[in-house]
Amino acid sequence: MPELPEVETVRRGLVPVMEGQVITQAQVNRADLRWPFPDRMADRLTGAQVIGLRRRSKYILADLSTGETLLIHLGMSGRMLISAPDGARAALGEFHHVHPAPEKHDHVVFDMANGARVTFNDARRFGAMDLMATAKAGAHPLLAGLGPEPLGNSFDDTYLAGKLKGKNTPIKAALLDQRLIAGLGNIYVCETLYRSRIHPATLAGKLKPRQIAQMVPIIRDVLAEAIEAGGSSLRDYRQADGELGYFQHSFQVYGREGDPCLTQGCDAVVQRIVQSGRSSFFCPVCQR
Ligand SMILES: [Zn+2]
Repeated sequence: MPELPEVETVRRGLVPVMEGQVITQAQVNRADLRWPFPDRMADRLTGAQVIGLRRRSKYILADLSTGETLLIHLGMSGRMLISAPDGARAALGEFHHVHPAPEKHDHVVFDMANGARVTFNDARRFGAMDLMATAKAGAHPLLAGLGPEPLGNSFDDTYLAGKLKGKNTPIKAALLDQRLIAGLGNIYVCETLYRSRIHPATLAGKLKPRQIAQMVPIIRDVLAEAIEAGGSSLRDYRQADGELGYFQHSFQVYGREGDPCLTQGCDAVVQRIVQSGRSSFFCPVCQR
């Protein structure tokens, strides 16, 4: 499932082909994905100019000249493919992929005025798209109630300390709570706690101010490094198949059960426990 860095990578990949461009034709090939598409979605998108592409949590938001905003959620398996007809290659410069043959799970297709085609393919159909008035975007059910962006200015140690104070839940669960921080998922919470040397089962309310203060820049770092890795994959994807969204990134603790801890001087092995149905990977020596 794509986490915040993957979604940000997709957004950055879409910016050069979509931002400032008119959607000359939107094609919607089915009535729903996870939820029904909004009424007349293709009509409402066709002819609209994409003014800006933003990200909130794991959602991509395309603000349109029509006063509406298109929300895109990749779900579990959603992929964005960028292609162009042969003739548009020169104009698009770096986008060298000729339109592939349509695939079974190509659910939504945008043809842009610059000749680029953006195809949303989602085999498992847990993805979603919705349209809303831009002015009311923050009130959308998927967006209302989300906590601050971990990479934004309103997320700092004062905020985090206030939210964790007196909390009787494990820090792992607290950091996964989207009302507390938007967009942090299982992988990056595991990485954060490893680098912070905090055991995932530690009760959030028991953390010392120093530990909380230390965690904030670590959260930003693990996400920023993954976004950076996504950026490199974006530079490489032009040689691949024009697909955005998934990239190879190595983790220090996530998925490494039974492997040696990477902290210098530590000879313990990474362990895995299950918390609220999710795997937590940690070093029993470094994280206490
Ligand atoms: Zn260790």
